[in-house]
Amino acid sequence: MRRWLVTAGLLLLAAICTMAQNVSTPSAISSFDLTAIDKTVDPCEDFYQYACGSWMKNNPIPPDQSSWGRFNELHERNQTILRGILEKQSADNASRSLVNQKIGDYYYSCMDEAAIEAKGTAPVKPYINKIDAMKDKSEIPTVLAGLHRAGANAFFGFSSQPDFKDSKVNIATADQGGLSLPDRDYYFKTDAKSVELREKLEKHIANTFELYGESPAKAAVDAKTVMKVETALAKVSLDRTEQRDPTKVYHKMSAADLQKLSPAFAWNQYFTTIQPPSFDSLNVGEPDFVKGMNELIAGNDLDTVKTYLRWQTLRGASSMLPKAFVDEDFEFYGKTLRGAKELRPRWKRCVQYTDNDLGEALGQAYVAETFPPEAKARTLQMVHELEAALKQDIGELSWMTPDTRKQALEKLSRIDNKIGYPDKWRDYSALNIVRGDAMGNSVRANQFEFNRQLKKIGMPVDRNEWEMTPPTVNAYYNPLENNVNFPAGILQPPFYDQKADDAVNFGGIGMVIGHELTHGFDDEGSQFDADGNLKNWWTPQDKEQFDKLEQCFVNEYDSFVVVDDVHIKGKLTLGENTADNGGLRIAHMALLDVLGTTPTKEIDGYTPEQRFFISFAQVWCTNETPQQTRLQALSNEHSDARFRVNGVVSNMPEFAKAFGCKANSPMIRKPACRVW
Ligand SMILES: [Zn+2]
Repeated sequence: MRRWLVTAGLLLLAAICTMAQNVSTPSAISSFDLTAIDKTVDPCEDFYQYACGSWMKNNPIPPDQSSWGRFNELHERNQTILRGILEKQSADNASRSLVNQKIGDYYYSCMDEAAIEAKGTAPVKPYINKIDAMKDKSEIPTVLAGLHRAGANAFFGFSSQPDFKDSKVNIATADQGGLSLPDRDYYFKTDAKSVELREKLEKHIANTFELYGESPAKAAVDAKTVMKVETALAKVSLDRTEQRDPTKVYHKMSAADLQKLSPAFAWNQYFTTIQPPSFDSLNVGEPDFVKGMNELIAGNDLDTVKTYLRWQTLRGASSMLPKAFVDEDFEFYGKTLRGAKELRPRWKRCVQYTDNDLGEALGQAYVAETFPPEAKARTLQMVHELEAALKQDIGELSWMTPDTRKQALEKLSRIDNKIGYPDKWRDYSALNIVRGDAMGNSVRANQFEFNRQLKKIGMPVDRNEWEMTPPTVNAYYNPLENNVNFPAGILQPPFYDQKADDAVNFGGIGMVIGHELTHGFDDEGSQFDADGNLKNWWTPQDKEQFDKLEQCFVNEYDSFVVVDDVHIKGKLTLGENTADNGGLRIAHMALLDVLGTTPTKEIDGYTPEQRFFISFAQVWCTNETPQQTRLQALSNEHSDARFRVNGVVSNMPEFAKAFGCKANSPMIRKPACRVW
């Protein structure tokens, strides 16, 4: 389902036997990298190429990846550390703690490919059988509820979330879902590449049905049916740009009103099966989607719905099914959609699944190994330095009037900082992890999470909870809680290096902190107040001015072409671009504050300010397949790496000054866009 909050993250990264081999902790990644620079390029012509050119030449995409950048280097390093932890704990050892039994046996079972092969499709059969056994459409809600609990993405998602207008309390929420492609537009685009992609998806669906035992003829017909159902769902879905608008995904209503939207689907029956705490009202993210789903169910025969549910169940289960299913899934989602050449080794996938399903159990050992208290203290200090810079910035903005400025400063002063890992670890004791039952563990983990979310309905929001696991190389701002969150996984080189000079750390983790703080004031975050409620705190005049300045970013990024004729979507990426631009600016201001008290000297032939900008750019050094570039531009809220660098520095006169760029240089944008 749509994870609305996480869209305010920094990026989307893209989820036999005890192998007793020793995996040692890999060496740290260098932060400021002289060998990455291509000195044949003029930094004022193309700064990204200058800072990353040699890195790109020397770091081709590994065959099991679709993109490769500094984020991935750190992600891989973290994965290797997690692998060491998991291999140690996967030995069947009676003295393991309860937490270590869970992560160890989960990983062991996932790695036990022989056992998975031996079971064949048996672990998914009970779910398929329940679908097949339906005799009447009235049974759909009950069966669908069971599938949702097990983790299938069919039709819609049901969960809890803070009430947008009373963010201290969690309410029930139903959101659009059930598609196999990353955005609704994929089902309607008529260019050759999109048509081909849909043909390949249909083939992939047919192949999967065949693997489950259908005849080729029936599998081909069934795949067409699935495409028909998903196209109908896509037609009534919001696209990703619309989903970023909180007012478009907030429709609080009673359960009775929800029922009126979809007479053909008995919600009571669905609720009887999933048993949420009782509630008076819920958020129906997209009422038109519910109406469309109703028409789909009412207007098609039961077999059509069964076929669609079978597909989404097999798709969700494929990672824990025999190799033939895994390979088939990779063929479409890895190769065709992303352009990767090889499937990631099993251990990487199993580390990822353990992190997804038991993140705060696995995270405990990761934090103990990688994140000393000094790192937490130093990060907190930097967050305070960045907050001071943003406060100064808001105080000085010429376009803002005193009333709005007062509100903005109030909101800033109330942002909470969460660093590294949760104060209180999640309790997994109710989740049973059985050695040798890979699929069962995955299903039970999904059920555990589903139930955990449901239990929150009607309860106060726990702001100490995390949306990301500790080893994650990412960060986020949560507009409903007004807090910034920096997992331990990103508080490492190349982002933060205890041995590096301030300029390098402010260009790295300083920019990341600035980026997340600025999310509180982007086109989306700025609609929420200091309490995290969807409430306008702007004077009409300031709001108009803000929208005008934001439009400058929309136009700027709309103009960037990433591959073939594919442009960045200026509106889809507006929040991230606002955060990138504001984030680097306040990181720069914070650096100047620090440099003001210490003498500035050149290191490696670069001034501190030059090192700051190079350090920032090198965080984004990336190679990616054309497929990945296309996918990202069409469906991701984050701009392409090259433009996350050049799009930002070209708006900063401070950059041009640091590198002595001439007035007509490509890296000087006229007029420069600036909001914060
Ligand atoms: Zn972001």
